[in-house]
Amino acid sequence: MFHLSNKSGLYNILQEVLSGGRLEDSGLLFLLEEKDGKAVQKIASAADTLNLSINFGNVSYVVNRNINFTNICALNCRFCGYKRTKNSKDAFLLDYDKILEKISEGKKQIGIDEICVTGGINPELKSNPDYYFNLIRTVRNNFPDLHIHAFSPQEIYELAKATGKSYAGVIEKLVDCGLNSIPGTAAEILAEETRRKICPEKINTAVWVEIIKTAHRLRVKTSATVLFGHIESNKDLAYHLSLIRQIQDETGGFTEFIALPFISPKTSLGRLVDKAAMRDDNNVLKFYAVLRLYLDNFKNIQTSWPKIGVPAALKSLECGVNDFGGTLMEENITKSAGGKFGEYLSEGEIINLIKQTGKIPVRRDTVYNYLNINAGI
Ligand code: SF4
Repeated sequence: MFHLSNKSGLYNILQEVLSGGRLEDSGLLFLLEEKDGKAVQKIASAADTLNLSINFGNVSYVVNRNINFTNICALNCRFCGYKRTKNSKDAFLLDYDKILEKISEGKKQIGIDEICVTGGINPELKSNPDYYFNLIRTVRNNFPDLHIHAFSPQEIYELAKATGKSYAGVIEKLVDCGLNSIPGTAAEILAEETRRKICPEKINTAVWVEIIKTAHRLRVKTSATVLFGHIESNKDLAYHLSLIRQIQDETGGFTEFIALPFISPKTSLGRLVDKAAMRDDNNVLKFYAVLRLYLDNFKNIQTSWPKIGVPAALKSLECGVNDFGGTLMEENITKSAGGKFGEYLSEGEIINLIKQTGKIPVRRDTVYNYLNINAGI
């Protein structure tokens, strides 16, 4: 047991983790609560050491394109600046030709290996669930080698409701159509009370967990995510991370953990949040470090350059992070919520940025097979 009430608490925790021990939930909360600047530096340094022993200085990235197929949404998540109603001037639902055109553009311009497809919960599609299945089938028929990473657990839930199928039935049908993996988004914060406050109409935690475990049981990999830096408490974060670690112990089906800082000044939730804390890179970087120390069953921790900006994303590579994320090409969701860090970095830019930190850039696929080490050299 850690002695959390004295100064040796931090030393004991870091020693324990660096010698291969598993950080308990009480230790996790202790690290999340730590604010002292020197202590935070020690946490970051321990995370960097641990990451080095796991990933040997490799920093991976994926050449991908986001495709947000609709911004029309029936839900009202309080952190969202992306959703539109059907009658909004800039509301859209992409047809398959437009989606194929975007993929062709991504293939020609940057040689994408992956598309990441998500959208709003468009009420029109409730009576047309085949839109989802045929979207995957159409992409697969046209791009046999492309990795299709698509549809969050919220979308799987809506498809189950619309078709009368079980979650497993929906996922199996999507896989038959050509789906490869599922984004572990819609997790937001899994501590139920806070979840209900920030996204009251979204699936509850139990359903999110059930859909994710179902995907893993069917050997469909997913990512794991958290939305942090809003009204959640450290206890909420500890609960979320503990649940994710338990699922990973059970299934091993998560490919990576992606921590998404809340940066949405234009949203109703943004007005409730302390702006200074929201922008504090040190809080964000400490959180990445804590993830590396706690999530001992995750090899991959991903930063988010569109949300925190390139300089902070590069710093995160010294705080336990080993994945730079993707080229994206377009990133509508963060941009609509007030994000200002752009939506595209070329592969060359990513390689040069990673090299600047003294790390080794590695192009990967969606499920973290390394495609070429020392990319671009
Ligand atoms: S986060 Fe997604 S589900 Fe929630 S309102 Fe925005 S588009 Fe809709």
